[in-house]
Amino acid sequence: MNKALNAAPHNEGTHIRTGVAIVGAGLVGGTLAVALARHGVDVVALDRLTPSAMVAPTFDGRASAVALSGMRFWRAIGLWDHVAGANEPIREIRVSDADAPLFLHYDHAELGDEPLGFMAENRILRAAIGAEIARMKTPPRVLAPTDVAHMNQGIDDITLTLTDGRTVSAALVVSAEGRGSKLRTLAGIGVTGWTYPQVAIVATIGHARPHDGIAHERFLPAGPFAILPLPDENGVHRSSLVWTERADAAAGYLALREPQFLAEIQERVGGFLGELTLIGPRFSHPLGLQFAAAYSRGRLVLAGDAAHGIHPIAGQGLNLGFRDAAALTEIIVDAKQLGLDLAHPEGLARYQRWRRADNLLMAGVTDVLNRLFSNDIAPVRLARDVGLGVVNRIPPLKKLLMRHAMGTVGDLPALMR
Ligand SMILES: Cc1cc2nc3c(=O)[nH]c(=O)nc-3n(C[C@H](O)[C@H](O)[C@H](O)COP(=O)(O)OP(=O)(O)OC[C@H]3O[C@@H](n4cnc5c(N)ncnc54)[C@H](O)[C@@H]3O)c2cc1C
Repeated sequence: MNKALNAAPHNEGTHIRTGVAIVGAGLVGGTLAVALARHGVDVVALDRLTPSAMVAPTFDGRASAVALSGMRFWRAIGLWDHVAGANEPIREIRVSDADAPLFLHYDHAELGDEPLGFMAENRILRAAIGAEIARMKTPPRVLAPTDVAHMNQGIDDITLTLTDGRTVSAALVVSAEGRGSKLRTLAGIGVTGWTYPQVAIVATIGHARPHDGIAHERFLPAGPFAILPLPDENGVHRSSLVWTERADAAAGYLALREPQFLAEIQERVGGFLGELTLIGPRFSHPLGLQFAAAYSRGRLVLAGDAAHGIHPIAGQGLNLGFRDAAALTEIIVDAKQLGLDLAHPEGLARYQRWRRADNLLMAGVTDVLNRLFSNDIAPVRLARDVGLGVVNRIPPLKKLLMRHAMGTVGDLPALMR
């Protein structure tokens, strides 16, 4: 475990003053903390969990598809160095509707040399944030494990009282607490949303044949089944699976003995990867969509899943969170350079205008895709299969969709360009 993360709780006094306090040092909060500290902003980040708990093999078995723009952001703030040898570039994406003959094929070569995105295990991404904090000359101060007991919005600052008795006062507090954000509730910001009758089963498989950097997404009646390429480990070819299953059936699959569980996977994957093995534990995630009614209130601002939680069908939730973090960094650093209050209302209003429409659009697209594809109704199936085939044959439309997957369209923050 790194010294910066461990030392912080013991060396701090009982009252800490800072420019920006980030509650939730997960993938979005940790990224924002590094980005702000790299730009000379005084930052405190706190989390309920210690950094070592977050990288334990049993904590988070997911791997994330990081879009090209997300990789550029991580590279700009020094984080990508730690992932450079531990990611798998996505060169092609093949989308198919179960066993229908028509499918959509994205090939990075149609746009240039850059991959469509990069697959990296979440434990590697989390470890990268810890490693960069340990390497930085002026790192963010990290307090963990701790939680917020109270939040008090003042005129000039906002004060958090932590469960360990310490207090943190900041000009701006960012909630990067994920979907269940406590500060969002304390601030009275409501959420709209619904649960999907689906659960994502996540597992890592080893396979006899290489994946060649190709990501596959198969639309099965219960929901999308994704086979995502990972780098080889100890000479073993590996892929990460996101198997969306009906919520009422998922527990049964998760409880299967390993040979039966693998047989279910083999049936869905097919034979193209050769013999399969299961690597590590199985994980499950209930799925839902939620959207915060406002992105800020007073000196509190929301980022990542605290502001928007979406279906993982397109692998975009974290990428939206990275865009939030890059946009907030730009706004906060601008304010600092101009000598303004870091929580000045125009800046926070700009953040909401900038990020909310993009996040809402993606939430809508993923919701529609999931509803359209997660069923076996014959006319709907015919229409969507024709749609996939048509998109595949219209190069400008296909290229636009590929650029969306790469995160390179729209009003991007400077750190992502
Ligand atoms: C199966 C699946 C696959 C996915 N695949 C992809 C993908 O390929 N690409 C992609 O872009 N996205 C993907 N996503 C979405 C992505 O995982 C999430 O959007 C992302 O993890 C959100 O990160 P976050 O930091 O905002 O929130 P979280 O990961 O929820 O982190 C919140 C952090 O805050 C801490 N915390 C919470 N409350 C408090 C408190 N009060 N005090 C202190 N600490 C607190 C928690 O301990 C945690 O560390 C996927 C999601 C699922 C379910």
